[in-house]
Amino acid sequence: MTTRTQERDSILRGIRVLDGGMASELEYQGAKIDGPLWSAHVLEDAPEKVVAVHRAYIEAGAQCILTSSYQVSRMGYAEFGLSAERADAALIHAVELARAACAEFPDRKIVVAASLGPYGAALHNGSEYHGNYGCAFADMVDFHRARIRVLAESASRRLAPGLLAFETLPSLDEAQAIGEALEPWPELTAWFCFTCKDDRHVAHGELLKECAAVVAQFPQTVAIGVNCTHPALLPALIGELRGASNHPIVVYPNSGEEWDAEGRRWTGTGDPASFGVKAGEWFAAGAQIVGGCCRTRPAHIRQVAEAAERQRRSVS
Ligand SMILES: [Zn+2]
Repeated sequence: MTTRTQERDSILRGIRVLDGGMASELEYQGAKIDGPLWSAHVLEDAPEKVVAVHRAYIEAGAQCILTSSYQVSRMGYAEFGLSAERADAALIHAVELARAACAEFPDRKIVVAASLGPYGAALHNGSEYHGNYGCAFADMVDFHRARIRVLAESASRRLAPGLLAFETLPSLDEAQAIGEALEPWPELTAWFCFTCKDDRHVAHGELLKECAAVVAQFPQTVAIGVNCTHPALLPALIGELRGASNHPIVVYPNSGEEWDAEGRRWTGTGDPASFGVKAGEWFAAGAQIVGGCCRTRPAHIRQVAEAAERQRRSVS
């Protein structure tokens, strides 16, 4: 086993608590996030707000934080007349801001994961939630490879992310495209998280366990999971993941509220205490790392951290 492989295998050791939603928390910090490229505006105009969100999650107990680059891509930027260089710089800048927040907590081990949304997130039409992109497989490979290259080339620098977090993946096809995009850099470290439409299938319809078995074969993979999914589906989905590979399982579902398109409002409950109770169930079901996606806030992550601590005590 090479040193690099050992490093890769140990990066998530002891990590149980991931952060929560970035966009809604930025809004709460007073950042203007309307418009499809909110991340570009906030990264450039109000970087201190991004750092403040990271800080709030670390204070709540997060041991791994996702950068604010979910929607950053050359394709997405080009649509708004922004250059490829600006997109590339934003990817690195997002890592820089996450590292700046971590530096405020020198005694804590905190992993910085570069958030990389799916191809559909750059189309700005919600297509990441069904995965029918109408593009060629090669387009997806190119899309992902351009971002991976920027982060890979930063790897020799202090500002490299600890891992690449491919998230909200809707389909097996896109997971395979990322595997191909990653091929030139077998030394990188990545996790793959899928968005699911029911208790067995990813958004596009393939079985989650089939997707997990495929990404488990990539040399870069250190964890596999589910994000941006209704929390009620998690126990069954964790079971599917457990059967598919031996990789650590990472889950960060939405708060539990649902978007009522007709009434244009969120309905249902997503309160932090009940999220914490469910987090305890996900740990018990076999998840190693738990966090939150849409509509989750530092209060949810504080509950997740408490659930992680209760679970640690119960097994020791
Ligand atoms: Zn989400």
